[in-house]
Amino acid sequence: MTVEQLASGIQQGSRRCLSKGITLVESSRKEDQEKVNGLISLLPQKKDTLRVGISGVPGVGKSTFIERLGNYLIEEGHRVAVLAIDPSSPTSGGSILGDKTRMETLSAKEEAFIRPSPTSGTLGGVAKRTRETIRLCEAANYDIILIETVGVGQSEYEVASMVDCFLVMMLPGGGDSLQGIKRGILEITDILVINKADGDQKKLAEIAKSEYGHAFHMLASKYKGIKTSILSISALEDLGVIEVWNSIKRFRDVLVNQHLFELNRNKQEIQWFKRLVEEEVLQTIWSDKDKKIKVHDIHEKILNGAITPYEAALRLLSSMKLK
Ligand code: GDP
Repeated sequence: MTVEQLASGIQQGSRRCLSKGITLVESSRKEDQEKVNGLISLLPQKKDTLRVGISGVPGVGKSTFIERLGNYLIEEGHRVAVLAIDPSSPTSGGSILGDKTRMETLSAKEEAFIRPSPTSGTLGGVAKRTRETIRLCEAANYDIILIETVGVGQSEYEVASMVDCFLVMMLPGGGDSLQGIKRGILEITDILVINKADGDQKKLAEIAKSEYGHAFHMLASKYKGIKTSILSISALEDLGVIEVWNSIKRFRDVLVNQHLFELNRNKQEIQWFKRLVEEEVLQTIWSDKDKKIKVHDIHEKILNGAITPYEAALRLLSSMKLK
């Protein structure tokens, strides 16, 4: 299949073509990367889509929530793509999201497209694969893109930098106010959802809600004049899921009205370009056979004290005419 055929298949809504396109995007073979370039440039850039990042520790209820939300959105006439970023450990190769069957009712729907996106522990893996995948899904007329990420490591920051709205899911917490949450995460949060506000945990969820409210009060807001919404819900009992969606829509409308929506997307486009350059440069430095030999020599020199790591870095870059 040519790249042109693939592009046209994707735009006509062929799931097979979309899957094929994403597999191409995920390939690290050089010839595939060139095809990806061709493919992306053949696809239209959609503006009337909404990209929502959903982050939270394993077990917080992300897939339960996404399944509920996704089904609701489809009833409302949307087409929903779910990209689940699995930061599989580079050492164990294990998967955090696991093999459990997730989002069963949603995955059976014609208007839903669910795709796990392995990062394979590659540097910048999330950015490199996911941005292209978003573009492909949007070209295939999915207007809502939900990007799920496990709240560990760098991946949530990466995801926050490629979505219009970043939603963080929390557990009601056992009296321990902020559950040791990283302040940095709150700073990139647009909407905070406390899940499992049901049964015995209902009260705890309300306490957590007010504590997070105080915490946000003390932080500089991400956007001037836009307050972070905090909602307590029960994904399991389907209580509050629609309110979360309404909150996302309100947030989007405020961004649009203040011209921040387009500004963000533009910034993200430039950031995408920068990340690709960085990845390409790193790839070039570390994968070239001849240079590998040199790098090995440099290691030796550093280890026997002949050269400092700093000097070694400068010399390597200068030998590659990068410095
Ligand atoms: P994920 O790892 O974040 O995707 O979490 P899951 O959606 O797989 O949920 C983990 C567990 O929590 C499952 O057993 C769910 O049934 C349960 N769960 C999810 N949402 C809720 C909720 O709102 N209330 C309660 N009590 N349990 C929930």
